[in-house]
Amino acid sequence: MAKNRRCGNCGSTNLISSKENTLSLPWKDYPSVLITEENSLMTCKDCHEAVFSASQGKMIDELVMKSINSQINLFIKMIIQREKCEQKEIAEHIGVSPEYLSEIKSGRKTPKFQTFNFLKTLALDENSFKISSPNYKDWKTA
Ligand SMILES: [Zn+2]
Repeated sequence: MAKNRRCGNCGSTNLISSKENTLSLPWKDYPSVLITEENSLMTCKDCHEAVFSASQGKMIDELVMKSINSQINLFIKMIIQREKCEQKEIAEHIGVSPEYLSEIKSGRKTPKFQTFNFLKTLALDENSFKISSPNYKDWKTA
């Protein structure tokens, strides 16, 4: 199948399954989305670009949205476990409504990059949760 295909980026015919490569794609306002879901995409072994055709656009959209959604669920779970907080508190920290946070958690909506990136920061950086609290006012003494 991939025999005659070439990498659109560097022209290499050295294509391998995306399972063997870390795959990330730019998407809408996301500079880069880490693809965490199972997929049948090929990637270039030489430059690591994903290789796909225009007809696969809808599949790529779904793959990206599923990957974003599974990471959002992971981030929310990490924050709740570490901070022993409720989901509505996370919504307060990132400045969205609890309803909207539920919608992006369920996958009914896909957030803009800024919201995703804020959740990622809260999940991966312990200090950011404390600082992003609307009640945090200690910066004068920090
Ligand atoms: Zn390439």
